[in-house]
Amino acid sequence: MQTNSKQKIITMAVLVFIVILALAVYVILEMPEDMRLGSGVLSDAEVAIHIIDVGQGDAAFIDNGDKDILIDAGPGDSAPALLEYLDALGVYEIEYAFFSHPHEDHIGGADDIINHYKVENVVMPDYYENTACYRKLMEAVDYEGSDLIYSCSGDKFVIGDITVEILSPGPRYKPEDANGVSLVMKVSYGEVDALFTGDAEVENEEFILRNYPDKLDCEILKVGHHGSSTSSSEEFVYAVSPEVVVISVGEDNTYGHPHVETLALLNSHLDKIYRTDRDGDIVIGITKDKYWIAE
Ligand SMILES: [Zn+2]
Ligand SMILES: [Zn+2]
Repeated sequence: MQTNSKQKIITMAVLVFIVILALAVYVILEMPEDMRLGSGVLSDAEVAIHIIDVGQGDAAFIDNGDKDILIDAGPGDSAPALLEYLDALGVYEIEYAFFSHPHEDHIGGADDIINHYKVENVVMPDYYENTACYRKLMEAVDYEGSDLIYSCSGDKFVIGDITVEILSPGPRYKPEDANGVSLVMKVSYGEVDALFTGDAEVENEEFILRNYPDKLDCEILKVGHHGSSTSSSEEFVYAVSPEVVVISVGEDNTYGHPHVETLALLNSHLDKIYRTDRDGDIVIGITKDKYWIAE
């Protein structure tokens, strides 16, 4: 009798141990790779660009030491996941939040970002949109006391060792749709340049080709308008001549993004196209003279 209950206890103990071990292995395997600057795959990085999977929308975070930069905040329904991602990076303060244009898939999460973090500066095109997400963004800016800066081509922001140049829209440009006011931003650190295009259209690309032909050559391109064929003209893609392209796009979206024509054009130029719907978050480590995809 006594031996039996002893055996039972030992068996139970072994079972409990196995369960704990299995849980520990599961937790370790499931734990996302540490994507903080200076650790893991980013141990050599001085700056990191995170193009965050927010479904159908855009959100990018540039980890720049104590002068962090956000470009767009994705749609409202992905805001909790976006905050979780930034919290995991240890973000507390954002020096500059750029909102490319006031469409929901770019600013839906903006009020959550501004309410949750200390956002010093908010940069947007000077374009009013009578929508709930636009009003919520403006209320958050007002309530939190962030500096609001309306920007257009020709502006330049020096943020720590990063330079951000605005290439579009032109100062007097009056588009038919908010996509046309998308801030097109050239982000430079040392010799590495990345181009963020919002939902800028072919007409905006033509403006940049005419006005800033020497500024277009960039290693990294966030493809315009989720890979829509209303962006990414052949002339523009060739002028940028990117080595890495990223499409921020939601799986099975109703717009059919990315469009086959855009994929064909990018594929004629590059072997690999990074897509948030297939690859999830895309993280790029950067030093003054090199960059790498952190995988
Ligand atoms: Zn969009
Ligand atoms: Zn848009």
